[in-house]
Amino acid sequence: MAAGSAIQIPTRLPLLLTHESVLLPGSTMRTSVDSPRNMQLVRSRLLKGTSLRSTIIGVIPNTSDPTSDCDDLPNLHRIGTAALAVQVVGSNWPKPHYTLLVTGLCRFQILQLLKEKPYPIAEVQQLDRLEQFTNGHKSEEELGELSEQFYKYAVQLVEMLDMSVPAVAKLRRLLDNLPREALPDILTSIIRTTNQEKLQILDAVRLEERFKMTIPLLVRQIEGLKLLQKTRKSKQDDDKRVVAIRPNRRISHGSITEDEEEEEDHDDVVMLEKKIRTSSMSEQALKVCLKEIKRLKKMPQSMPEYALTRNYLELMVELPWNKSTKDRLEIRAARIVLDNDHYAMEKLKKRVLEYLAVRQLKNNLKGPILCFVGPPGVGKTSVGRSIAKTLGREFHRIALGGVCDQSDIRGHRRTYVGSMPGRIINGLKTVGVNNPVFLLDEVDKLAKSLQGDPAAALLEVLDPEQNHSFTDHYLNVAFDLSQVLFIATANTTATIPPALLDRMEVIQVPGYTQEEKIEIAHRHLIPKQLELHGLTPQQIQIPQVTTLGIITRYTREAGVRALDRKLGAICRAVAVKVAEGQHKEAKPDRAELGEGE
Ligand code: ADP
Repeated sequence: MAAGSAIQIPTRLPLLLTHESVLLPGSTMRTSVDSPRNMQLVRSRLLKGTSLRSTIIGVIPNTSDPTSDCDDLPNLHRIGTAALAVQVVGSNWPKPHYTLLVTGLCRFQILQLLKEKPYPIAEVQQLDRLEQFTNGHKSEEELGELSEQFYKYAVQLVEMLDMSVPAVAKLRRLLDNLPREALPDILTSIIRTTNQEKLQILDAVRLEERFKMTIPLLVRQIEGLKLLQKTRKSKQDDDKRVVAIRPNRRISHGSITEDEEEEEDHDDVVMLEKKIRTSSMSEQALKVCLKEIKRLKKMPQSMPEYALTRNYLELMVELPWNKSTKDRLEIRAARIVLDNDHYAMEKLKKRVLEYLAVRQLKNNLKGPILCFVGPPGVGKTSVGRSIAKTLGREFHRIALGGVCDQSDIRGHRRTYVGSMPGRIINGLKTVGVNNPVFLLDEVDKLAKSLQGDPAAALLEVLDPEQNHSFTDHYLNVAFDLSQVLFIATANTTATIPPALLDRMEVIQVPGYTQEEKIEIAHRHLIPKQLELHGLTPQQIQIPQVTTLGIITRYTREAGVRALDRKLGAICRAVAVKVAEGQHKEAKPDRAELGEGE
């Protein structure tokens, strides 16, 4: 690149994948980071101890399904925004995550992915250059006209806003001071646009194209505002009511007026009340909710407490107070499910069946809870899932690793800003029934801190004498947990708090032998991976010796998790070849197994 460019980014960038928003150059965005890959990136690139290292990272909008398995790197979008992280805030609640504040600098293009793990790194080419801005190319004239047109719309838009608001006045000044070339990106971030539209602007690498695409977005916003002002005016004219002056906080929403909004919200409250009255919540809960709805009706919507109360009531309505699935337990069928899903682990399967049989005979859930103890990847979670399947119950996993605050379990009191229920109540909301199987994962990794002992809170959750009236701090009314089937997992019993261990029946799940791993791979893992990648057994055959090779040379573990991942890597590589139509014979090569990792 010629001298004179203001920003020159490195040729190798670590990539941050964001799925909820698209970052454009010149704007700043707050993004929550919780996938393992992104968390790794933050830890190793952005944090130095607890302070921030100023590093340029590549922000790539993740256009694939955000719910897809986070182990696989999705098809990466090729164009992204190089960004400077200006703030990192870490939190452990409701689950470990970071909140990043990033400022976009310029576009870049991925030339080649250099590394996928633990977070992706790519060789990149910078796309936005300063030269292009200042001494433009052949299309300068046309661009001049386009940028002039764009600028006029932008000014018109800003002047329609309330200029007495300091931010708006500042915006007006910015319009004149910023280089014209930067405006399309910045305005796209400010006005009301969808992520899809932002993505299109991101992909518009040529400046001219970018101007052309952003003008209609500006026009649309201007028309929306005009309509808004017109309806508001006519309404004011025939309605002599004194309306309190409020900031135009929803101005960018375009077509609905605030009065209409208020009416709509009022209707919503009436609906909410109806839902509360018809829900099957406990008497105590109903009393609390009706009191709250009464308060809500009197509260101005602009009060922060309005939203808080409403969220609370909505959660209360949503909780499965009385909703459950019907248990269907047939021991013989259970045996078949367990056998079908898992190879070996005879002792464990036997014990699980006994447990289920006793439960069926006694017809209640009191008694110790099962705790599977063993190394990672030996199928503990997977057995939990099968138990839910045999009972016809919903399954929900609650990861406890690193939880050190009792409010993780029991929620925050509603007096806190941003308070939320704990994981138990959240889990119930997610599954939507009151008798799921909850897998309390990694109970040995609970930590203690000043914020109270989470183990003590968990003990209350598990105690059959108490858990029929479990009180989450956020709900502040009792919820009956006695129908929930809890199962725990741990890597070792040594660090499980003794009082908790006392309530559990420990079942050891040992690691597998080489032979068992081969069987598991061929009976379970490979078929699953083939299906996941849309491959047929004709397209790829993995001989047992290959599996053995992977086990002995590429994985070192008691369980089969890394093995499963390596098999996944092979399938991915073959899937690409099949898709490219150049598939002849699928032989896993070393690179696909990630040799040298
Ligand atoms: P854990 O909870 O012990 O860490 P998982 O239950 O997540 O392990 O198991 C990892 C993967 O290995 C899952 O896909 C699981 O289905 C598979 N797996 C583990 N053990 C077996 C087994 N005995 N038979 C079939 N699949 C197994």
